[in-house]
Amino acid sequence: MSEKNLQPEIHVDITIIGGGIAGLWLLNRLRSAGYNAILFEENRLGSAQTIASQGMIHGGIKYTLGGKINKISEIIASMPKHWRACLAGEGDVDLRRASLLSDCMYLWSTASIKSKLTTFFASRATRGRMNTVAKADRPPVFQDKRFNGTLYRLQEIVVDVPSVISALADNYREAIFKIDWQNAKFLQAHIGGGVDALQIKSEDGNLLTIRSQRFIFSAGEGNEALLQQLSIKRPEMQRRPLHQVLVKHDYPFPLYGHCIGASSSPRLTVSSHPLPDGKWLWYLGGSLATQGVELSVFELITKAKQELRELLPWISFQHAEWGSLRINRAEPKQASFILPDMAYAKQAAENVIVAWPTKLTLTPHLANEVLGLLRLQGIKPKFSELNLLEGLPRPELALPFWDGVYFS
Ligand SMILES: Cc1cc2nc3c(=O)[nH]c(=O)nc-3n(C[C@H](O)[C@H](O)[C@H](O)COP(=O)(O)OP(=O)(O)OC[C@H]3O[C@@H](n4cnc5c(N)ncnc54)[C@H](O)[C@@H]3O)c2cc1C
Repeated sequence: MSEKNLQPEIHVDITIIGGGIAGLWLLNRLRSAGYNAILFEENRLGSAQTIASQGMIHGGIKYTLGGKINKISEIIASMPKHWRACLAGEGDVDLRRASLLSDCMYLWSTASIKSKLTTFFASRATRGRMNTVAKADRPPVFQDKRFNGTLYRLQEIVVDVPSVISALADNYREAIFKIDWQNAKFLQAHIGGGVDALQIKSEDGNLLTIRSQRFIFSAGEGNEALLQQLSIKRPEMQRRPLHQVLVKHDYPFPLYGHCIGASSSPRLTVSSHPLPDGKWLWYLGGSLATQGVELSVFELITKAKQELRELLPWISFQHAEWGSLRINRAEPKQASFILPDMAYAKQAAENVIVAWPTKLTLTPHLANEVLGLLRLQGIKPKFSELNLLEGLPRPELALPFWDGVYFS
C-alpha cells in the first residue's frame, strides 16, 4: 500500500460493516441515493448465511399455512415483485447481471394431507398468488404416474445467490474494502456510546482514521461481537440453527418448492443448483433441517433418504453423494425465539444502526427501513471522498459453499 494514498483522516457519510446480502444491498441503495457509503467485509463477500441460503424469494405463502394473514405475510408478499423488477433493471437496485434459477416455486402435498392443501388454497391468504397445475403442465419431477398428491405453482422466484452477490458487488466495487480487525478498531468517546471513528493500520504502519455520519452493522451473526466490542447492550441477537442436506445425483431435473406436511411449516424444502459437471445438486431444508439440528450427520442423511423415498419414490438416489451443512440464522432476539416478523433496522447508539434482514427475501425491505431511519435522523449526503481509500485491500466473492463440503 503506498503512503501517498493514506491520508490521516477521511470523512464519509455511511460506513457499512459486513458484506452479506444486507450490506451489499444497502451499499447499492445508499450510493444510488447519493450517500458516500463504503463497506468493510472481513472475509469474502456473501460468505456466511447469504451463500448458504436456498435463494428462495418467497412471497410468504409458507408462513400462511396456518391460514392466518399476519404482518409478515403483508410485507413479504410484495417482495418477489420487487426482486423481479431489480432483475429486469427496473428496480431500486440493478440486478441485471444476476440470474434466476427458477421463475416459480411449487407447493405439493402427499395424498394423505390433500384436503389440508385444498382448504388452504381456497383461503383469502393465498388469493391470486398460487395456481393449480394441470397434469400436462407439471414439471418433470411430478410427471410420474405415482404422484397422486396435490400440486400448486407459486408466483415466487429462486435466484442464483452467487450471481446476486457478484452483481451487487460489481455495481459499486470502488466502495468495498476488506477489513482485518487485527489492524483495525473503533474509537469511542464513551463506553456503550457511538463510534467516533474507525481506525485502520495499513501494511506500512500508517494510521487511517475514517469518520462517518453513521455506522451500520450488517454483519449477520457478527453483529453480536461488534456490539459487544462497543459495550452496546441492545439489541440482543438470537441464533436459530439449521442442519441442511446436500445431495449430488444423476436425476436430470431440478425441483424448487416445499412439501407440506401435517404441521404449519414445510416438511421439506428443496432447491436445485447446477454443478460444473452438468449435474444437479439438490439442497434440502424445511423441517428436515430444523429438526436435523439434533441429529448427527449420519442420522440426518439417513432421515433425508427416508423422506425422499417417501415423498418422491419414483426418483432413485441410489448413486447419490450426500453431505450436510450446519449453519445459524442470526436475527434480533424475539421473546418466544420465533422467526421475527420483518427486517430489523434500529439505532443502537448515537451514530450506530444495527440491521438484520431476517430473510434474503426481505433485504429490499431492510434497505427501505434504513433509508427511512436516515431520513428521520436528518442524515443527508454530505461527503464525496473515496479515492483516498483506494490503497486498501479488497475482498473476494464467496464461492458456492458446497465447494467446501465433504460428500460421501
Ligand atoms: C441454510 C439457510 C437457508 C436460507 N434460505 C433462505 C431462502 O431461501 N430465502 C430467504 O429469504 N432467506 C433464506 N435464509 C436466510 C438468509 O440467508 C439470511 O437472512 C440472509 O442471508 C442474512 O444476510 P446478512 O447479510 O444479514 O448476513 P450474512 O449473510 O451472514 O452476512 C454477514 C457478512 O458479514 C461479515 N462479517 C461478520 N462479522 C464481520 C465483522 N466483524 N467485520 C466485517 N464483516 C463481518 C461476514 O463475513 C458475512 O460476509 C436462509 C438462511 C440459511 C442459514
